[in-house]
Amino acid sequence: MSTVDQTIVDAASDPQSERERSRRMAERYRCPFVDLFEQRIDPELFRSIPAELMFRFNFVPMEAQGNALVIAVAEPSQVLLSDELPLLLGKKLILKVATPTQIGDLLKRTEQSQRVLDQATEAFTLTVVEEDEEADATLSADSLTRESAVSPVVRLVDTVIFTALERRASDIHIEARDIEVAVKYRIDGVLVHAMLPIAKDWLSTIISRIKVMSELDIAERRVPQDGRFRVRYKGRFVDFRVSIMPSIHGEDAVLRVLDKETLSEKFATLSLEVVGFSGEDMRKFRRYIREPYGMVQIPVNEKKGLTFARGLRSILRHDPDKIMVGEIRDNETAQIAIQSALTGHLVFTTVHANNVTDVIGRFINMGVEPYNFVSALNCILAQRLVRVVCVHCKKKVRYSREILSASGLDPEIWGQVEFVEGVGCLECSGTGFRGRSAISELLDLSDHIREMIISRRPTSEIKRVAREEGMTFLRDSALAKVREGVTTLKEINKVTFID
Ligand SMILES: [Zn+2]
Repeated sequence: MSTVDQTIVDAASDPQSERERSRRMAERYRCPFVDLFEQRIDPELFRSIPAELMFRFNFVPMEAQGNALVIAVAEPSQVLLSDELPLLLGKKLILKVATPTQIGDLLKRTEQSQRVLDQATEAFTLTVVEEDEEADATLSADSLTRESAVSPVVRLVDTVIFTALERRASDIHIEARDIEVAVKYRIDGVLVHAMLPIAKDWLSTIISRIKVMSELDIAERRVPQDGRFRVRYKGRFVDFRVSIMPSIHGEDAVLRVLDKETLSEKFATLSLEVVGFSGEDMRKFRRYIREPYGMVQIPVNEKKGLTFARGLRSILRHDPDKIMVGEIRDNETAQIAIQSALTGHLVFTTVHANNVTDVIGRFINMGVEPYNFVSALNCILAQRLVRVVCVHCKKKVRYSREILSASGLDPEIWGQVEFVEGVGCLECSGTGFRGRSAISELLDLSDHIREMIISRRPTSEIKRVAREEGMTFLRDSALAKVREGVTTLKEINKVTFID
């Protein structure tokens, strides 16, 4: 470690000359020179090689090619002068040369995040193997050390939480399966495995630990439980909302990160622009809204008879100008919201639906008369999130006619367009994405559209008229983001329907 650090310190003063030095070294040893920031780093491959070896020989693995391994080294001589590394890895090596700084940076970052997690997990995954082989011995040893076994579980749970925060995860999912426990992170909206599965035997200890942290009932395993806890992370407090749910294989846990500080930082500058709405939708949307100046939040407590609808009714007695109804899910809430809108209140609300035209269907399904609904409604804005391509590994690409046609794009028009893709790097944990942005569609409730809804015209017809009236649909909004190089074609094909 110390030699790596030393090289970094020396070179950091002049990256250009370090690069030159590495280039010359590559030439001397007839190895290609690589810029690691332009290379895809495979986190899986990284994990498969002992960190200790990477530090000792100052290399990073880049790619497995059958029985050979492509590695980037800082000092080719160190590897070439002996057979030690190929023997230890059991693979033929194909060398490339990168600067010591880049290799050092990569090693340090993986050491910090991934290794910590893996080492904490190691003890648990190893136990499975032992138990399968010598069930009796391990069982007795296990029961003897049951008390001291608490601390590694605490460490594991702490590490899982710490790493989730490091990797900007929004939730942690702990899923009980038939023989193992899967731990996943939701990063930029996508669930990814956080680490290798843990042996099933640890499930109840892990869940118990989480229950203790969230002040839940450890003995209760048959009903869902909700709780919360708070941890200290980088000098601030981060809250977690915990949901424990019984499943066929035991209990599952979902930990939602409620990071108030990063949230309030974002809220300081939160505007429709930050969210990512297109200029046109924003202009239309702004026409319907003005700055709201107050919000009352009532926690619903159904056990005590404070239902959503009842809370909303008592809010109305205070006669506000603007009302925000978090979500409409039932007829009663829908009726109150509509009545409020019809009696001079500006109501903001959300409904879960696939797109703006489906919203109409959702209200009709809730038993709302189209006439009431339509007279109360100004506009419907639908939004979805697409992942933003990682700026650290963004690459320009062109697609073949086949790919364009399969995505519903005219090759004549799109053939010349340069698309982007994230190659995958450590900044984005190999996913090629970092952060998210909104795509949107906004339906103006024009007289024509209102009439069509009341006379229950088919959705396809409403869509056609809306398009004629200048509406841009989610797919158009998504394609605009692709054209701007914000996201990828594959991503929007996943999020929106191909026309
Ligand atoms: Zn990246």
